[in-house]
This record gives sequence, structure tokens and C-alpha cells, in this order.
Amino acid sequence: MRTDRTFTMLKPDSVEKGYIGAILEKINAAGFKIVAMKLTQMTRRDAMKFYEVHKERPFYGELVEYMTRGPIVAAILEKENAVADFRTLIGATNPADAAEGTIRKLYATSIGENAIHGSDSDENAAIEGAFHFAGRELF
Ligand code: UDP
Ligand code: MG
Repeated sequence: MRTDRTFTMLKPDSVEKGYIGAILEKINAAGFKIVAMKLTQMTRRDAMKFYEVHKERPFYGELVEYMTRGPIVAAILEKENAVADFRTLIGATNPADAAEGTIRKLYATSIGENAIHGSDSDENAAIEGAFHFAGRELF
């Protein structure tokens, strides 16, 4: 299992508010290389599958509505220690708990609408990257 890649989504709220450029700037400045990237919209089926691990949680329905309401930017990023370093860059799930300077502190509005996704393990990074991208879309 490789340890130098992670997967991210700039969630619908980030795209709606015009934060794509600012967030990509933070990602670049932190030393991540973009290996794959696209503007896309998840179907209901996609979102239910992507967040299947949360299907028993009370917020699952709202999460699926939120993640499907508009386009997202999906990307695969490369850097040494990618998963952990990217989680540090984005900050805590709840922006109220996120450290100063993190992407969620800067751009998220609530624990539900929290601007950005970052994979939580090398295994999930590989699964999530393959969910959104074919091999020929990686550079
Ligand atoms: N979420 C929510 N309410 C919660 C926890 C999570 O709406 O109490 C949403 C939020 O958008 C979060 C996503 O569900 O990013 C996945 O939750 P997870 O615990 O995996 O957080 P993450 O890994 O994104 O920090
Ligand atoms: Mg998670």
C-alpha cells in the first residue's frame, strides 16, 4: 500500500462560494502535487456509496443531500505522508474545533458543511481515488 497519495473533494459549499482557487492555493503551498483533478457532481447513488460507512448515523441523509446538491472538485494528491499531512492541513471535522490557518477554519461554515474532504487512511485513499478516477486520468 503506497503512503504518498491521498484523495480530496472540494465540497459543494466551497464551489458555490467561489473558493476553488483559494483552497487549491493552500494545497499547492503545503507541497501537494495534483495527480488527478476534475469538476464533477455526485449522484445520490454515488454519495450513498461513498459515505456508506456513515449510513447508520443520524446525519447520513443530510450528508447525501449536501454532497449531491452541486458540483465538487475531486482530486488525487501526492506528497510524502500524504494522508496525515492533508488531514492536518484541512483541520478538524467541526470548523469550530479546527486549528487556525486550516482550510476548514478558513472556509467551512459548520460540522455538516465543512468545505473539504480528506481520506482518513492509505487504504481509503486508494479506494476513494479509484471511486472517482480511472487509471488513465492520473498523471
Ligand atoms: N458530518 C456531519 N455531522 C457530523 C459528523 C460528520 O454532517 O456530526 C459530515 C461532515 O460533512 C463530514 C462527513 O460527514 O465531513 C464525514 O464525517 P467524518 O466523521 O468522516 O469526518 P471527516 O473525515 O470528513 O473529517
Ligand atoms: Mg472521514
